[in-house]
Parts: sequence; C-alpha cells; structure tokens
Amino acid sequence: MKRIAVFTSGGDAPGMNACIRAVVRGAIYYEVEVYGIYQGYQGMIAGDMVKMESYSVSNILQRGGTILKSARSDDFKTKAGRKLAYNNLNAKGIEGVIAIGGDGSFTGATIFYEEYGIPIIGIPGTIDNDIYGTDKTIGFDTAVNTTLDAIDKIRDTADSHGRIFFIEVMGRDSGYIAIQSAIGGGAESVILPERDVTAEDVVSNLQDGIRRDKSFSIVVVAEKDDPGYSVELANAVKEAITDKDIRVTILGHIQRGGAPTATDRTLASRLGLGAVEGLLDGKKDVMVGIVNDDMIYTPLKDAISKDKPLNPDLIRAMKILSL
Ligand code: ADP
Repeated sequence: MKRIAVFTSGGDAPGMNACIRAVVRGAIYYEVEVYGIYQGYQGMIAGDMVKMESYSVSNILQRGGTILKSARSDDFKTKAGRKLAYNNLNAKGIEGVIAIGGDGSFTGATIFYEEYGIPIIGIPGTIDNDIYGTDKTIGFDTAVNTTLDAIDKIRDTADSHGRIFFIEVMGRDSGYIAIQSAIGGGAESVILPERDVTAEDVVSNLQDGIRRDKSFSIVVVAEKDDPGYSVELANAVKEAITDKDIRVTILGHIQRGGAPTATDRTLASRLGLGAVEGLLDGKKDVMVGIVNDDMIYTPLKDAISKDKPLNPDLIRAMKILSL
C-alpha cells in the first residue's frame, strides 16, 4: 500500500487532531503517502483532499476540533454519492482509508467497503464513548473533564445559595458522560438513558438528602432527543419541593471543545498509529480500539451493532457515595 487517506466525520471530538497527526506521521514513517480529506464523506464526494506532509500536522496535537473539518453527508447515503466518492479516491490512487468518527461514520464505511472493496479502518472518535471494541473513545475523557470543571463551579454557587441544580450533559443514547460526571462531580442523583428514573424518584432522593441536612444538591441529567429534558424534570421537581430554589444549567456544545486531556492525546496517538499499521498489515472493514491496554481490531459491523453497557458497578458506587 503506497497511498492512503484520512478524514474526520460526524460529531467532532477533542483529540481528533492528535489522531490525524498520528495517522500522517505514522504513514510517513512507513513511507506511505497520505491525503487528508476535508469535511468527511462530503469532501470525498467533492474530491476535496490534499496531500499531507509531516509539517501539515505540526502544532495541532493539543488543539480541539479537527483541522480536516467534519460534516454530515446525506449524499454519501446514496449509491450515486458513494460512486463519486470512490471515483475520486481511485483517481488519486488511494488504496486505503482511515475514518475517524462515530457509529454513523462506521456504517457508511462498512457499506463503502462492501460496495468497492477498498480497505477501510475506523477509529472511534466521539465524546459519547458508546462504541463496542474499545474501552474509551477519543474525546470522552476530555468531555468528562469539561463537565467536571463546570460542575465544580456550579457547586460553589449552589452551596452559597443552598440551591438544587440540574446539570444537563450530552449522551442521548448512552450514559457514560452522565455517570462519570455524577461520580466525579459528587452529584446526589443521575438520570441515565439506560435506566428509567421518574421525577418522583428524583424528588424522593432529594428529600432524603434534605432530611440528612444537605444544604444543596446536584442532579446530573443525560440529554434526551432534544436538549432541555433537565428543564422538564426540574419543573416537575419544583412542584414537589417548594421551599428550595431550583436551577438548571445545560452544558451543551462546550463538551465537544477544548484541548484534549493527556488520556485523549495518548489514546488518539496510539489509535492513529494502530490504524496505519492495521492497514499495512492487510486489515480491512475493522475498527481499531484499545481494550485492557491492548490494541485490538474489531469488525466494523460489531463495533456498530454490539452494545457496550455501562458497568453496573459505576451505578452502584454512585448510589452509595451520594448518601
Ligand atoms: P457519527 O459518525 O458521529 O455517528 P453521523 O451519524 O452523523 O455521525 O454519521 C456521519 C456520516 O456518516 C453521515 O453524515 C453519513 O455521511 C455517513 N453515514 C451514516 N449512516 C450511513 C449509511 N447508512 N449509509 C451511508 N453513509 C452513512
């Protein structure tokens, strides 16, 4: 394999730049040319790609976002769009592709592989951490650290005024960010998509705390389909707890930005290099991940379809420690 391409796709995540750098430097180390495709699948269809050199990725390791930009592409969901994309890769002599993104991007990748047989390796880049085949996804650790920074600040003001705060975090299908934010942020309650918790449960939990003389409380809420679920819950709780000031903070896209943590920089760097080495080793239609500190390659279909359930021990710890 003499020429490969890399792109970032779907929701962006801190650490994607560190990963692009690792792919580019890894490829150059093995004397493989590497192209960067802009705007994910949309750029593949438009032929928006440039050859990258070692200096193209200088000084990006520590930056959030993605220098290759990210996009969602409805055209790639059509056969005609994918044909254009393949023709563009073919015209440049690209023999392998590395896709940094989430399960949507991997779905596109595996369909593309089935149709055209071009070797493709996925790298899990999403703050949600909801991908099977890797202990952590790129961006998750940074996102949780961002929520903790915000929760710490909110705790100060919650404490000063004796308030109950509902803090909404990302993760509409998976509670990884919520549970770690709740444990690390010392929350009284957490609302996860994996568990059915009603407003009555939250009220009873908060009232227990108030009886034990808690002067303020934090409730971490994983967003639902649209941001704003925390407002709905807070309004329901306000009807039952009338003698406390109840406030809501929705953290939103702040969780997607910022400099990646040490953990994310290392993970992104290892996975980027692992993807290049996987391609050169003949692997295709797989995702590279790290499980128990070992690099492993999982079929894209499994990465997309298999569940990675929350460790119940986290939920147990959360319950005990919020006493
Ligand atoms: P993420 O990768 O973060 O999960 P998305 O779900 O938005 O993000 O997917 C990113 C892109 O992957 C989509 O905009 C689309 O171009 C491509 N994609 C997703 N699903 C399919 C599909 N079924 N067929 C072809 N391409 C797809």
